[in-house]
Amino acid sequence: MDRQSGALRSVPADALFVLIGSQPRTEWLGASVARDQWGFILTGPDLLGAGGGHWPLDRPPMPLETSLPGVFAAGDVREGSIKRVASAVGEGAATIPFVHRWLEAMTVPHAA
Ligand SMILES: Cc1cc2nc3c(=O)[nH]c(=O)nc-3n(C[C@H](O)[C@H](O)[C@H](O)COP(=O)(O)OP(=O)(O)OC[C@H]3O[C@@H](n4cnc5c(N)ncnc54)[C@H](O)[C@@H]3O)c2cc1C
Repeated sequence: MDRQSGALRSVPADALFVLIGSQPRTEWLGASVARDQWGFILTGPDLLGAGGGHWPLDRPPMPLETSLPGVFAAGDVREGSIKRVASAVGEGAATIPFVHRWLEAMTVPHAA
């Protein structure tokens, strides 16, 4: 339908995909991984919201890191993500150096 004129037109098609919003299945994460009101996972600077936010450590969260330090989220399930294949894949790839940084910090001996 032409929303300006109201005119209707038939278009031949073999199939129709209807995409109206999305619903993340993240309930199983419990309280350990902060999510927004719809269930999308908060990551990086988004964790530092009003009132101290959801971040437990002194250092700032790395990009794509969740409120559970060392746990990262990428793709559609992440709040504010682009919701496209290329961005989901890119976020997954971009997480790798942050995981390395996390593992490196884990292996640095702590002062007594
Ligand atoms: C109809 C439609 C058309 C689209 N068209 C395009 C397009 O043309 N171009 C484009 O770039 N993007 C398109 N998208 C968006 C694109 O599909 C997504 O952005 C992309 O797939 C996100 O990848 P992802 O890995 O984050 O999530 P997903 O591809 O959704 O992968 C998540 C996976 O996790 C699995 N999973 C969920 N819960 C659990 C659990 N508890 N345990 C184990 N596994 C679990 C799911 O089964 C799924 O396989 C379209 C999406 C839809 C729905």
